[in-house]
Amino acid sequence: MSSVEDYSQLLQRAIDAFASLPGVGHKSAMRLALSLLRQEKSFTYRISDALRNLVDGIQYCAKCHNISDEEICRICSDETRDPHTLCVVESVRDVMAIERTGQYQGLYHVLGGVISPMDGVGPQDLFLHDLPTRIQEEGIKEVILALSTTMEGETTNFYIYRLLKDVEVKITTIAQGIAIGDELEYADDLTLGRSILQRIDFQESLKR
Ligand code: ZN
Repeated sequence: MSSVEDYSQLLQRAIDAFASLPGVGHKSAMRLALSLLRQEKSFTYRISDALRNLVDGIQYCAKCHNISDEEICRICSDETRDPHTLCVVESVRDVMAIERTGQYQGLYHVLGGVISPMDGVGPQDLFLHDLPTRIQEEGIKEVILALSTTMEGETTNFYIYRLLKDVEVKITTIAQGIAIGDELEYADDLTLGRSILQRIDFQESLKR
């Protein structure tokens, strides 16, 4: 016998499932599957229940598009936060990264990506269309652009700047401190925290 499939197609299927996850190679997938077989069944049921509940129950906040167990997320419904400052980020992971710094008390707007013609992602694929109305309806006074300093991030920043040109709101960016080409979520907490506190006017940033 040469392959796992010769022993058990069930095991092979579990290995294939693990191996389809990001960052999990075939060897790790096999190790995971075999280690589950060594556990009590209830252990594996807990994992599979958690995953099933996750995909069935997870929602995205109707206001900011952050991940949420309810229609409105915990950050949006937290009355102690500053309701007039809105931080625009690419993904849920960026919300988590900024929250980890403990330096930001405002609200978020999760775009769900950045404009990237190479990957076929246009403005219509992102949560951009509701941004101007949201700013007006909620009386937002400052929009902080906190996207990655990649070409796609810069393009998206500029698109939002144009999109909001008739909206009365201050637009700032955290570009300072985050190195060019950096993905936001990989910035260390201190750098990210500082760059939010020392944000600069977006229009000024264009002159640099
Ligand atoms: Zn929310």
